[in-house]
Amino acid sequence: MPKHIEPIQSVKGTRDLLPPETELWQRVEEEARRVFQAYGFREIRTPILEATALFARSVGADTDIVTKEMYTFQDRDEESLTLRPEATASVVRAYIEHRLYHEGGLHKLYYLGPMFRRDRPQKGRYRQFYQMGAEVLGSDHPAIDVETIEMLVLLLERLALQEFTLLLNSVGCPRCRPEYLKVLRRALEEVRANLCADCQRRAVTNPLRVLDCKVEADQPIIERLPRMVDYLCMECRQHLEAVKSGLQDSGVAYQDVPRLVRGLDYYTRTTFEITSGALGAQNAILGGGRYDGLSEMLGGPPAPGFGFAIGEDRLALAVKEAWEKQPIEAPRARRPLAYIAWMGDAALGAAAKLARELRRQNLSIEISYQPNKLKRALGTASKIGARFTVIIGEGELASGRYQVKDMGTGQQDEVEADPGKVAAYLHEKTAKREGSNPATGERT
Ligand SMILES: [Zn+2]
Ligand SMILES: [Zn+2]
Repeated sequence: MPKHIEPIQSVKGTRDLLPPETELWQRVEEEARRVFQAYGFREIRTPILEATALFARSVGADTDIVTKEMYTFQDRDEESLTLRPEATASVVRAYIEHRLYHEGGLHKLYYLGPMFRRDRPQKGRYRQFYQMGAEVLGSDHPAIDVETIEMLVLLLERLALQEFTLLLNSVGCPRCRPEYLKVLRRALEEVRANLCADCQRRAVTNPLRVLDCKVEADQPIIERLPRMVDYLCMECRQHLEAVKSGLQDSGVAYQDVPRLVRGLDYYTRTTFEITSGALGAQNAILGGGRYDGLSEMLGGPPAPGFGFAIGEDRLALAVKEAWEKQPIEAPRARRPLAYIAWMGDAALGAAAKLARELRRQNLSIEISYQPNKLKRALGTASKIGARFTVIIGEGELASGRYQVKDMGTGQQDEVEADPGKVAAYLHEKTAKREGSNPATGERT
């Protein structure tokens, strides 16, 4: 008797992305690449594995990410490695390692890929999650902040997301933040006992992170704490004002959120998040800000930077909901252009050759390698949504002409049994169909 074998499941907090969802993701990524490239960003691909020290130094040794959420392990040669929990540190490491700063000027880099954090799994949050992000290295000019945020708003508009809100704040710089932290620490001493356990610890180790706490009972206390904006130095204040007036000039609405800090220690000055109405106010789909000292923290030259990361899992969720509500063209499942139905062993060679030649012209072709009856083959063709079925049986082989059936209209034509002729026929028929589409404004 065969032994029962328990199937293996995917790891908790990870998931498979299946079609048609992958097609939605492809659409989102294509749009992102197009918009990033229009703003002069070029792609960088960094490794998923990095030295653990990279994140301890940049993200911050006392952040939740580094203390609780990283996938860290000793490699066989004892080196401590980590699956990247975010990509900004990696991009800056690469910038320093390859001395990109020698070329001078601005470096605008974007990336797409998986990140790893051992977070509590919940809707739209995964332990292997995906980010699309970009970094501008080499300038602290507020116009960089404005232009990058403007680009993000354009991307969200292109994706037909309508209900989103830009939250804006400044977290100051190494000159003004210590003074604020002193005041904040003092204020926290008085209320500390009433805060959640995490905040009681943060109040000592990393008081800024208290502002970020999501525990309901802490909110009224946090609302009354001193605010960074009231302690900004002259330069930081001017920088923030310049970002705000730049956003107004580009027609980008924002909301001042004085307690907005991000979960990473390297931020300076501008911090921002965009939340989507579709996912609820707590759910940022993207966030970012300025990190003027990060390059130095990682042993590089001064290289002010600004960047963001979009949570692709949550963005895809928001986009899907938005597209369902609006009469816009949702991503169509990729349908094959033609299904090749062959009857009798003698036809198989000709059918395989036709499929090969048509695919070389980038036409999407399906073919079954199981012997079939015509009726059954036509059933398969309509089930998979093929627009045409090419029929090759003994009669077609003898006459040297294939039957091509339009699955939409039912019309059937004879086409010379030559892959080039069949391709030309399919091109002509699809061009006609698209031409009569009112959306293209063309007439045939
Ligand atoms: Zn400052
Ligand atoms: Zn708390």
